[in-house]
Amino acid sequence: MMWVTNPASYCTYLNRLWYEFTGQSEGEALGLGWAKATHPDDGQRAKDAFLSANAAQEPFRIEYRLRRADGTYRWTIDAANPFFGEDGAFLGHVGSVIDIHERREAEEALRASEARFQAIANSVDQLIWSARPDGYHDYYNDRWYDYTGTAPGSTDGEAWNDVFHPEDRERAWAVWRGSLETGEPYRIEYRLRHCSGHYRWVLGRAQPVRDTEGRITRWFGSCTDIEEIVEAREVLTRSRAELTREVEARTEALMAAEAALRQSQKMEAVGQLTGGLAHDFNNLLTAITGSLELLTARLAEGRLNNVDRYVGAAQDAARRAAALTHRLLAFSRQQTLAPQPTNVDRLIAGMVELVQRTVGPGISVETIATPDLWNTLVDRSQLENALLNLCLNARDAMSQGGKLTIETTNCWLDDQAARLRDLPPGPYVLLSVSDNGTGMSPDVVARAFDPFFTTKPIGQGTGLGLSMIYGFVRQSNGQVRIHSKVGQGTTMRLYLPRHAGEAQDAEAAPERTLSAPRAAPDETVLVVDDEPTVRMLVVELLEDLGYTALEAADGPSGLQVLRSETRIDLLVTDVGLPGGMNGRQVAEAARTLRPGLKVLFITGYAESAVLSHCHLDPGMHVMTKPFTIMALAERIKTLVPG
Ligand code: ADP
Ligand code: MG
Repeated sequence: MMWVTNPASYCTYLNRLWYEFTGQSEGEALGLGWAKATHPDDGQRAKDAFLSANAAQEPFRIEYRLRRADGTYRWTIDAANPFFGEDGAFLGHVGSVIDIHERREAEEALRASEARFQAIANSVDQLIWSARPDGYHDYYNDRWYDYTGTAPGSTDGEAWNDVFHPEDRERAWAVWRGSLETGEPYRIEYRLRHCSGHYRWVLGRAQPVRDTEGRITRWFGSCTDIEEIVEAREVLTRSRAELTREVEARTEALMAAEAALRQSQKMEAVGQLTGGLAHDFNNLLTAITGSLELLTARLAEGRLNNVDRYVGAAQDAARRAAALTHRLLAFSRQQTLAPQPTNVDRLIAGMVELVQRTVGPGISVETIATPDLWNTLVDRSQLENALLNLCLNARDAMSQGGKLTIETTNCWLDDQAARLRDLPPGPYVLLSVSDNGTGMSPDVVARAFDPFFTTKPIGQGTGLGLSMIYGFVRQSNGQVRIHSKVGQGTTMRLYLPRHAGEAQDAEAAPERTLSAPRAAPDETVLVVDDEPTVRMLVVELLEDLGYTALEAADGPSGLQVLRSETRIDLLVTDVGLPGGMNGRQVAEAARTLRPGLKVLFITGYAESAVLSHCHLDPGMHVMTKPFTIMALAERIKTLVPG
């Protein structure tokens, strides 16, 4: 639309388009009538702008709403320039009017959406930003500037470096570059400099925005402060680690305390044991030395009648001393187990008298034997020891007197019965020792087998009886079970596996005199022992038996004899020897020199470890000290039968 005015601000021309657009007639529009077609709110402003431009003879430009012929208003832009005559006189304005309604509306909508976005972006707690597809940051919300304390505009572009924690920079940039390359969302935790000057942990995320063709047009990102979450997370891991350390430290302390307690309990028991043993030994030694003194006196006087009494007394005391050390060895478990096929009834029969004497007259002892009782393979002295201990416990439980029953039976354990007793199914010899004493509470039953567990006052109980019995029975492939009721009594049951072989009747009292058949005179035995008395005794015994005896005080000199041409039928050697070789090594060297040579080891408790845990080769045998000369003679005779 075009128009022309004169210097007096009078509209002199409007083109056809104006009349078509506004529906005005020429009469209405000319002069200042055109202004009637503007919106009531815009008319005055448009008129004023025009009149002042006319007065100043200047160009002008104004936007206003213009009424169309159909009554609706459209935004238009009206721009005009003054024009002058040849003489420079002001002639008026020439202007054009363009319909810009659609553009205005679009701009309006954009502004509204921008305002809405700003309102949202500034109302959330997160820091929000956007970036161009090339990664250039071009927008931050107000929270960003508040949080980082930076001035608007200062963190545009790559100025991020300053707000990243120096240690996180490289990592954060790498992730950001990665996202820009792949278009994958960006997600990373890093420290951001807070306006307080401290760094705080934030979770940074960004998402690409794509156009309809899938091209990334921008990135929208946010940072969420997670300082408190990170702190809580750290506290949690730290306290977990601390807790673990604490538990470990306490467990360690507890275990140390327990070990110390066990050790002190053991020391107490050992003290009691050695104290008691020293006392017993002194008694026995007094009996032995006393008998020998009397014997010497009688021999000096030539009064030989009745001297057997002294010999017998000395032997008896020595035997009891041997039994004592045996118990001590059983306790320290360094004894070599010597299982033998055994008839338990016969073993019991040999002990009843001792048991009756030990438990005293207030307790009646009954034994119930089984005809044709099966044999079992056990170490006899240990079984005796176990039986004695069970009887002593029974006695202690019946301080007012009562009845002690020792009973045996053959029994078959079927699958279920065996499983209950933690044994393989099969035939067992069952040995039960019952009393009608105090009985045990379930609590005591549960702990009765524990080493050092005792309910008896110090000096009376060591708590070792049942633990030794348990060890022995388990070593013998058997089981022991307690059946007890408080106030009614206790039955201890020992299950020992049946042994198919014949029982050797070694329980018969040993002969008191040497009535051994003589050996063939050239049969030779080499004795290696560093203890001269033992060596002398053995050599004398051998000579009495008719053997030729050779002796050596240590391994190397023993080997010298073995290397010679001399006939040797048997090597008898101590296990602990001076001179750099123990008995086992001597025996092995001897076997290399003379394959198949028979060997008999004689061992004390400390040396038995050298032999235990390893199988002895055929032809090698062991005797544990102390032993009687008779027993040694028997043994040698079985090895070199003459
Ligand atoms: P100690 O006899 O030295 O106490 P034991 O190992 O022989 O040690 O026994 C452990 C504990 O088991 C005893 O202190 C006692 O409380 C209990 N006990 C063992 N046998 C019997 C029994 N026949 N009657 C009652 N209690 C028993
Ligand atoms: Mg006991």
